[in-house]
Amino acid sequence: SVLILCFLATAALTECSAFVPHSLSTRNNSVHHTFVLLGASGDLARREIYPALWYLYRDGHLLRKTEIFGYARSALTIADIRDRVAPFIQVRPQEEKLYNEFWSLNRYINGSRDADTDYDRIDRIVSESEENETEANRIFYLALPPATFPSTASQIKRACMAKKGSTKVVVEKPFGRDSESSEELSEHLKALFTEDQIYRMDHFLGYEMVQNLLSLRFANRMFSPSWNKDNIAAIEVDFKENFGIEGRGGYFDSNGMIRDVMQNHLLQIVSLVAMEKPVSVDPDDIRDAKVELLKKTRPIVLDDVVIGQYVANPESADPRERIGYRDDPTVKNDSITATFALTVLKIDNERWTGVPFIIRAGKGLNINRTDVIIQYKNVDHDLFDGQSQRNELVIRRVGKTEALQAKLTSKTPGITSDLERITIDFDYTKAYPDLQNPGAYERLLLDVFRGTQLNFVRSDELSEAWRIFTPALHEIENRKIRPIEYKFGTTGPVEADEMEKKNDFL
Ligand code: NDP
Repeated sequence: SVLILCFLATAALTECSAFVPHSLSTRNNSVHHTFVLLGASGDLARREIYPALWYLYRDGHLLRKTEIFGYARSALTIADIRDRVAPFIQVRPQEEKLYNEFWSLNRYINGSRDADTDYDRIDRIVSESEENETEANRIFYLALPPATFPSTASQIKRACMAKKGSTKVVVEKPFGRDSESSEELSEHLKALFTEDQIYRMDHFLGYEMVQNLLSLRFANRMFSPSWNKDNIAAIEVDFKENFGIEGRGGYFDSNGMIRDVMQNHLLQIVSLVAMEKPVSVDPDDIRDAKVELLKKTRPIVLDDVVIGQYVANPESADPRERIGYRDDPTVKNDSITATFALTVLKIDNERWTGVPFIIRAGKGLNINRTDVIIQYKNVDHDLFDGQSQRNELVIRRVGKTEALQAKLTSKTPGITSDLERITIDFDYTKAYPDLQNPGAYERLLLDVFRGTQLNFVRSDELSEAWRIFTPALHEIENRKIRPIEYKFGTTGPVEADEMEKKNDFL
C-alpha cells in the first residue's frame, strides 16, 4: 500500500531557484515524504490544497517518494474527495491517465469523534508506509477551523512526530485575532515545535508579483538610489475585489477587511517594499530585514483609518451589485463589519520618515486588481510650467497575471513643446503568452517539501504585525464605529480618496 510517486530526481532539481538555498539534493530525492492533510473534506482542501498537490505531481516537482493522506471526520472515501475537488481542478485531456494515477496514490483516513484514537491511527498508518524507509519526513497541513489548532498541534506532538526524519506543521491564517490571542497560540506552538518546524502560510507570499519585489528592488541599480524619503512622496498597496461576500459571510463577518487582508497579506507586501537590503537571500536574513522594518512602524491610529461597508447599488445592471453586504443571508442584519478599509502606516527610520504607506482594501468595488504604487515626488524647479507629472512605478496583479508599469512625463510628439504622461507597460500576458504561472499554493507547498521558510511568516513578524494593528482594531470594536456606506461597484468611500490626498498620494 505504499504510495510512491516515481519522478526523475532531475525534474525537481532543475526547479530550484536562487532563493531556495536548501535546494533538493539527489540524496533528498530518495527520502520518503508523507503529506497529511487534516481537514481534507473542507473548502480550503478542495479549492487549493488538492489542486496544488496535483499540479506539483503533474509537473514533476514532488519528490521521488511522496504519499498523501487526507483526514477528516466525515464518512467519505477518496472517490468522494475527488468529486468534491473536481470543480476546482484543471486537467487537460492528455493528462487524464496521470490524473488517475495521482488519485490512486491518495488515501483518505476517516476519523472518529475521538481525537486520541484518530491521531494514534494516523501515526500507525503513516508508520506502516515508512516501514522500509531509512529516512522519512512528515508534513501536517492544518486545513481546520482555527479553534482546533491548539489541540491538533498537541495531538501531532503527542502521537505523530516523525521517527526517521523531520516533522513540519503548516498553519493557515488566522493566527489569532489580536496581539494577545496570537501570542497565546504562538506560545502554545513554541512549547511543542521549534520555529523551523512551523510554516505559517500567507498565500500572498506565493504570488509572482510579491516574489518579484525582491528582484525588482535589489537587482536594479536604477531604483536603489531613489528608494527613499528624498524621492518618494507616498506608497500605496491597493487591494480591490469586484465581488461581494456571496454567501461566505461566516468567517468574514466576525473578522472584517483589516484582519482578513491588511494585518497579514498587505503588511507583508509593505515590509518587502520598505525593508532595508537584507544581508543575503537566506530566508532568515530576509525575515530579519522585514522584522526590523516592522519594529520601526508605528501602531495605526484611528485618525489614519477609513472604514466602509458596501450597500446595494439599485441602479446597477449587474444583479450581484444589487445585493448589499447586510442583505447577504450569511451576514448579520445589523453588522458593522468593514468590507473596505484604508489605513496609513508611518515608519520611523532614516529611509522613510515622513513617507506615508497607505494600505487600501475593499470588497464590492469596481475592479478586481492589486496594485503596489510607488509614487515619486514632483520634480524640483519644474522647467515646464508645472507640466512635469509625478513618476510612478506600478507593480500589478490582475486575475492570475501580472504587469509592471512605469509612468513618466514625455514630450508630446510633433511641433509642440507640450508634455504628457506616458506609460511603459510590461504586461505578462503579452510578454509570456505561453506562461503557465504556478498558483500561490503550488509554490508554497513546494517550499514546504523543500524545507525553505522564506515565504512563511516567522513568529516575531507575526507579533510585530499584531502590535501595529491591535490598538486600532480594539478601538473600532469597543467604540462600535460604523463603517461609511458605499455602493457596490464603485471605488469605495470618497473619504478614502480624501485621506489619500491628505497624505500626498495623488
Ligand atoms: P471548512 O469548514 O470548509 O473545513 C474545515 C475542515 O475541518 C473540514 O474538513 C472538517 O471536516 C474539519 N473539522 C471541522 N471541525 C473539526 C473539529 N472540531 N476537529 C477536527 N476537524 C474538524 O474550513 P476551510 O477549509 O474553509 O478552512 C480551513 C482553515 O483554512 C481555516 O483555518 C480557515 O480560516 C483557513 N483558510 C481558508 C481559506 C479558504 O479559502 N477556505 C483561505 C484562507 C484560510 P469534518 O467535519 O469532516 O471533520
